[in-house]
Amino acid sequence: MPEDWRVLAAAEQGSRNHELVPTPLIVQLSGLRSGNAVHKSISNLAKIGLIAKLQNAKYDGYRLTYGGLDYLALHTHTKSSTIYSVGNQIGVGKESDIFVCANETGMQQVLKIHRLGRISFRTVKANRDYLRNRSSASWMYMSRLAAMKEFEFMKALRREGFPVPEPLGQNRHTVVMSLVDAFPLRQISTIDDPSALYAELLSLIVRLAEVGLIHGDFNEFNILIEEKPEDDGKAALIPTIIDFPQMVSVSHANAEFYFDRDVDCIKRYFDRRYGFTSDEPGPFFKDSTKNIRKRLDVEVEASGFSKKMAKELAAYMKEHGIDGDAGGVERDEEDEDEDEGLSGEQEEPLGVELETEAPLEQTPAEEVASDSTATPAT
Ligand code: ADP
Ligand code: MG
Repeated sequence: MPEDWRVLAAAEQGSRNHELVPTPLIVQLSGLRSGNAVHKSISNLAKIGLIAKLQNAKYDGYRLTYGGLDYLALHTHTKSSTIYSVGNQIGVGKESDIFVCANETGMQQVLKIHRLGRISFRTVKANRDYLRNRSSASWMYMSRLAAMKEFEFMKALRREGFPVPEPLGQNRHTVVMSLVDAFPLRQISTIDDPSALYAELLSLIVRLAEVGLIHGDFNEFNILIEEKPEDDGKAALIPTIIDFPQMVSVSHANAEFYFDRDVDCIKRYFDRRYGFTSDEPGPFFKDSTKNIRKRLDVEVEASGFSKKMAKELAAYMKEHGIDGDAGGVERDEEDEDEDEGLSGEQEEPLGVELETEAPLEQTPAEEVASDSTATPAT
């Protein structure tokens, strides 16, 4: 129903400055003349979990759920012909859900839905006030920042010839990219010649530094390995790097720490998994940043993902202990102080399941008056 999209978009718009959007405001923002139609839409949307009532609220209102935000983003991707259908979920991270999707020509792609704030609000106690004012807006806003950051970095890296997926689209908290036909390094149990891949991965870390960047989460889950058969009967292992929301600039105060951590991650993994240790020390941050030939970190700042946004996202990630998906020794120490049992407060992705292997409903183009809602003002 066209009205449903308008009402959903109205709930989204209202969510920017209301944790609970008052029902009269939804009516107003929807721009629909018939209050009755809006109320009918509201009850439809609430029934399928795209908006939700808050318990014990002081006034009558609704908040947009993750499911609702998903629908809005998918709706925009289908309208722009970026996505035609959504298929199986292939990954569940702490801060994201990954789906296979396809465009109109049937080309397989990946839809990454960022979900910051879904897991534990570990430091929630220290930030009660901050959350009281911002919680609903903040998961939406921060997830969108993560998606924007990932998309901008993927574009810059791809332009620069790095082995990353092709960025195809971004809307709200979602990124669409090419599907890499490969498995995470994590799933490769044996390698004929670990030294070659090891050298290539470390040289990628150095090449990144030479354009001003540190991946920040360079681990066996974020390196996809394609096995290409070669003439000599062996297989060449081609890496593709993914997962960019935590990338940092070489001019970050802790840049060297992050650089070393990425290097150590590979060293430790090759040692543990493939019994391979290199005799050569390094690479070292200082050497790698001697000949910086380009500043992609600066270029990205000048894109849609501003310095201010980068700061907000970094602060949020730090506050919530978001620090990559493999974790490590460094992380465990920070984990100690604030592990309160707050699981009840987490933001559940209320669940409208995405349709599996069926085309998304094609909706007429005229419904949501404009997609200005796609990029909430900040
Ligand atoms: P998270 O932030 O949750 O770690 P990732 O971007 O690392 O999300 O993706 C999680 C998993 O999904 C990866 O380990 C990989 O298996 C799969 N994946 C993500 N992007 C792609 C892609 N473009 N092609 C193929 N698989 C992918
Ligand atoms: Mg990952």
